[in-house]
Amino acid sequence: MAKNTKKTDAPVAQAPRGGLFTYAPAPESPAAAGDIATSYGHFIGGEFVDSSGSEALKTVNPATEQVLAEFAQGTGEDVDRAVAAARRAFADWSALPGSERAKYLFRIARIVQERSRELAVLESIDNGKPIRETRDFDVPMVAAWFFYYAGWADKLDYAGYGPNPKPVGVAAQVIPWNFPLMMLAWKIAPALATGNTVVLKPAETTPLTALRFAEICRQAGLPKGVVNIVTGDGRTGAALTAHPDVDKVAFTGSTPVGRSIARQLAGTRTKLSLELGGKAANIVFDDAPIDQAVEGIVNGIFFNQGHVCCAGSRLLVQESVQDEFLEALKRRMSTLRVGDPLDKNTDIGAINSSAQLSRITELTDAGEAEGAERWSPSCDLPGTGYWFRPTLFTGVSQAHRIAREEIFGPVLSVLTFRTPAEAVEKANNTPYGLSAGIWTEKGSRILWTASRLKAGVVWANTFNKFDPASPFGGYKESGYGREGGRHGLEPYLNVEARDV
Ligand code: NDP
Repeated sequence: MAKNTKKTDAPVAQAPRGGLFTYAPAPESPAAAGDIATSYGHFIGGEFVDSSGSEALKTVNPATEQVLAEFAQGTGEDVDRAVAAARRAFADWSALPGSERAKYLFRIARIVQERSRELAVLESIDNGKPIRETRDFDVPMVAAWFFYYAGWADKLDYAGYGPNPKPVGVAAQVIPWNFPLMMLAWKIAPALATGNTVVLKPAETTPLTALRFAEICRQAGLPKGVVNIVTGDGRTGAALTAHPDVDKVAFTGSTPVGRSIARQLAGTRTKLSLELGGKAANIVFDDAPIDQAVEGIVNGIFFNQGHVCCAGSRLLVQESVQDEFLEALKRRMSTLRVGDPLDKNTDIGAINSSAQLSRITELTDAGEAEGAERWSPSCDLPGTGYWFRPTLFTGVSQAHRIAREEIFGPVLSVLTFRTPAEAVEKANNTPYGLSAGIWTEKGSRILWTASRLKAGVVWANTFNKFDPASPFGGYKESGYGREGGRHGLEPYLNVEARDV
């Protein structure tokens, strides 16, 4: 297990250095997560069932390295059963009036709200992210997503896809570990609202909230087979995305896996949407309000330990304000509290897995080896678990790996520019195109810059803002298809088969 600084024994959030205030611990109770079974099978046809195979995987609390539960490694036969269950359920589910489907989605949304504390704690334990974020961001977004798409279910005629648009059929959905329950909601809510049935595979390191969501589907009385959850690693994901009886594949994850799925499905009739990686530029012009921009840069890269596809991982700061800006940024970074994800004071929790920690460590070591200057605030890290201090690199050139590759950790690479044209040129100098940020007081400069940035989402004087009504997605190597908003219905509608 790699660590990047000295250790202490207890997983407590570390007090910021030099501040006037210290924080007493404010721990959330792990018991609020409810009962975690010692082992889980799959959720197929409305029942929790054993796998046809005997291989089991373990999910670990990344803050303590304790095993939380075992779960099944889905076999090809398990995937067959799940797809067959979804296929059986499709005819009745798609024939329901939209207003009836909406009732189930509204019910799920309300149950998520009612069980929000339980889900927030469970997510925090399984993923390592701070309870403050699961409580105030992830779980409220999950409920919002179901409420929003429940609202669309009986209004599809007015969505812009012609009268009475038809569902695609059975959707295979594969999601990553960075926002496990939220990614599930982004996938399942629009699919169900439009009349599809789904088989979803959660990531291998974070299956627990998807399995808890299966209980919520039962609690909501969702007809059997409309939602099926099959757990396992990439082999299960590959069996699902390649299954001949799925009509649509929705994938969020790394660009290499997305590319392999696109190759697999090329020439078939299966519909595909891909939400892949990013290397977003956050551009700070010399007229930007410094304190507000610093807050936005910190939120842009240190939110969720930097495990965010649209993270603002490249700071482009105008040369004339560089020194002042970096001084303020370092001061703010020194107040970030790293440690126990269940402490309500914690800003930066645990890295999701030892594999991800190794990848972050490898890339940051490469940054130093290639000549960039590394800086982190002083803070002790807990003795067990996977941790990484918030890190800043200056003296970064565009050729450095830390400026080109997605690190997916709390690491910010700083580059400078002199003119707006140079900022745009550098921001676009990436194979990705998911998101970008602009910080300036001038509206005209925002419009000038945004219209030249090749990114699916551009935030101005803010960052990482999400809303179910707003479409999200990328282009270039960040994928295609949109999630959220009216546009997020299209991947689940067979627009060719609509009534005219
Ligand atoms: P992956 O792309 O490997 O995993 C995403 C999901 O796909 C997981 O459920 C995974 O299963 C599954 N999967 C893996 N291989 C296949 C396959 N051949 N066919 C179908 N499904 C498959 O991402 P990782 O989790 O390994 O993360 C690696 C890197 O990807 C990160 O460092 C980051 O750069 C990027 N990433 C980007 C995300 C985004 O939101 N855009 C999210 C997560 C990662 P399992 O986890 O069980 O192996």
